[in-house]
Amino acid sequence: LASRDFHPENTVIDIKGIKIGGDELVVMGGPCAVESPEQIDEIAALVKAAGGQVLRGGAFKPRTGPYSFQGVGVEGLIMMAEAGKKHGLLTITEVMTPEYVDICAEYADILQIGTRNMQNFDLLRKLGTCGRPVLLKRGFSATYDELLNAAEYILAGGNPDVMLCERGIRTFETYTRNTLDLTAIPVLQQLSHLPVISDPSHGTGRRELVEPMCKASVAAGANGLIVEMHTDPDNSMTGDGVQSLFPDQFAGLLKDLEKLAPIV
Ligand code: PEP
Ligand code: MN
Repeated sequence: LASRDFHPENTVIDIKGIKIGGDELVVMGGPCAVESPEQIDEIAALVKAAGGQVLRGGAFKPRTGPYSFQGVGVEGLIMMAEAGKKHGLLTITEVMTPEYVDICAEYADILQIGTRNMQNFDLLRKLGTCGRPVLLKRGFSATYDELLNAAEYILAGGNPDVMLCERGIRTFETYTRNTLDLTAIPVLQQLSHLPVISDPSHGTGRRELVEPMCKASVAAGANGLIVEMHTDPDNSMTGDGVQSLFPDQFAGLLKDLEKLAPIV
């Protein structure tokens, strides 16, 4: 079902009038984690003012270590839904377990599956009937074929609205957190009809590389970008402050992107 052989035309996912996978670029911006109502409200206002369409933010965080901040949980879903509604943005949040799919689907417009869960097959099966579009991140050691097979689980379960996300893979290079595989963008678009979103924040792990790799992703044909932005990155509650843009950088990036591709 994910293959272009089966479905020659591009899939365009229409969420409340925002079309993902068409001719226009969709930009998803926001913090790594939802921290407080004030934080997410302030960032939502900035995403909207810059011209973004989707507010990102994790309420449930998949942390490498068990003692790190794990996210504010269901309260965060509520905070984000309110901020999205107030500022006229769609919302995307990560869901980590099948038990939480229904509640995440109740509050968010798009469900994100993180790199660590790309092959959590019970979770993927549950997404087939969640009633929301899904952004499926590529596992950091997954091949294109493995990513497409993971998408297949969701499609086969009855949900046609899947976006594929390149978020960087693990290579021998340690200067960057991951290696953003730009080649994935045209390859996935050739093999599949699904929209492809690029995540240069996790793909590089370094703020100063996010802007050039966003532009490179758009040049390679990405249908959208997901970008971390924070008003106070040095004090953010996850380690992802180092890869989060400052609000003025985010706004400047979107201005520059308009020259490369029309933003919805
Ligand atoms: C995130 O988007 O904050 C995140 C945890 O992403 P990934 O699953 O790509 O590491
Ligand atoms: Mn993050």
